[in-house]
Formats: sequence, structure tokens, C-alpha cells
Amino acid sequence: ILKINGLEKTYKSGSKELTVLRDISLDIEKGQTFSIVGPSGSGKTTLLGLAAGLDTPNAGTVELCGHDLNTLNEDQRAQLRNEKVGFIFQDFQLLPTLTALENVSVPLELQSAKNAVDRAKELLEKVGLADRMHHYPSQLSGGEQQRVAVARAFSNGPSILFADEPTGNLDEETGEKVIQLLFDLNEQAGTTLVIITHDLDLAARTQRILRLKGGKVLTYETTAAI
Ligand code: ATP
Repeated sequence: ILKINGLEKTYKSGSKELTVLRDISLDIEKGQTFSIVGPSGSGKTTLLGLAAGLDTPNAGTVELCGHDLNTLNEDQRAQLRNEKVGFIFQDFQLLPTLTALENVSVPLELQSAKNAVDRAKELLEKVGLADRMHHYPSQLSGGEQQRVAVARAFSNGPSILFADEPTGNLDEETGEKVIQLLFDLNEQAGTTLVIITHDLDLAARTQRILRLKGGKVLTYETTAAI
């Protein structure tokens, strides 16, 4: 579902160039759980952005859900993301002026989904927020906000879900609840999970771990979870 070959990324600022990813290759099959670990600045978030077509590489290819991203224009990449990809970010990225319900239903409405509000309610019930739907993000705890973000990420029934430090801002117990939701989705719907994490215990629960250092693949291992 995600095939990356010889990926390289260089950022330019003024006359300076910084190569943050070099010769990255990986292959994730549909339904797999996958984690990316590595020190701060090793290129994890950059890799996720390239894998999801949010950014373009300087060299190499990304094949996402059967599409070579280099052959798609920005609109086509956005359409692919809307249809097949879910995202969860460390800092939740909820819209502050929308309620929990609207944060989930509005993206669905923008994609002309049928019964967007009912579907959003169902998803929020699933993540345990039935009684918080009409609250604004500022009226929710960090864990509740992250669960809204999880509901939103699930809303398009993604084939692949990218999560960048999904528990980074949560206490251990709340983080575990969020992670459990992700693994449930993987088991029930076969959604492929790609998780960036600093938590090695969490990484060990995924089937494969890619370890990055200084923009290069240090190891690529299969865990006991496979
Ligand atoms: P962290 O764990 O701290 O989030 P990371 O492994 O996700 O780090 P990246 O965010 O991918 O690392 O950053 C890799 C390197 O690229 C860093 O040195 C960062 O400063 C640099 N970088 C990231 N985005 C840009 C950008 N838009 N322009 C220039 N340099 C950037």
C-alpha cells in the first residue's frame, strides 16, 4: 500500500542546503502496522509528509495506494488523501471555532459525504465522546481533543492512517486509550497504521520498525508482533 524507493529530501534556506533524508526505501503492505523511530531531527516527520504526498522529494519515488505520487498533481494528491488517507498529529490540529462534532462532520461535508453529521456522531460515540460533542476544543482535555482527532482521522474510512506522535502530549493512560483505538481500527477495518513515536514499547507493538538516524535508515526490523 506504501512503497518508497530511493527517497531523498533537501531543504533550501537562502544559499544553505540541508539534506534531511537520504536513500530511504521501504515497503508497507495493506493492513500492516508500522512505526518510525529515531532521534529528534532525524527526518521522521519529513518522511511522513513525503509518504502522504504533502511534500515532494528531490529524488526517489513514493507509491501510495497504487499511485506513483510523482505522476499526480497537487489536486490529485489531495483527492487521494481525502479518499484514502487519515492523519493524526501530535498537536491535534482541531479547528478552534468548531465544536467537536463539527470538527468531524465538516470535513465529511466538504467531501459531499452522505449523512455527515450522523456519521460524525457515530464516530465520536465510538471514541467515547458522546457527551462532549458540542464542546469546543478549548473546553476539552488534551486526551479528549486527541480522541476528536482520531474520530476525524477515521471519518473517511482510510486505507492508511499516518500518526505523528499521537500520544506525545497525553498522559500514559489516555495515550494508551488512543493507541488502542488505532489498533482496533487496524484489526476491525484492516487499516494500515504508520506511527511516528519516541515510545519504544509502542513501536514494539507494531509489526515493523524503521529506525532513522541523521536522515538514513539505521535498521529496518520485523518485530515479534508480526
Ligand atoms: P522530531 O522528533 O523532533 O519531530 P523529526 O525526526 O520528525 O524530529 P523532521 O521534523 O523531519 O525531524 O526534521 C528533520 C530535519 O529537517 C531537521 O533538522 C529540521 O530542522 C529540518 N527541517 C524540517 N522541516 C524543514 C523546513 N520546512 N525547512 C528547512 N528545514 C526543515
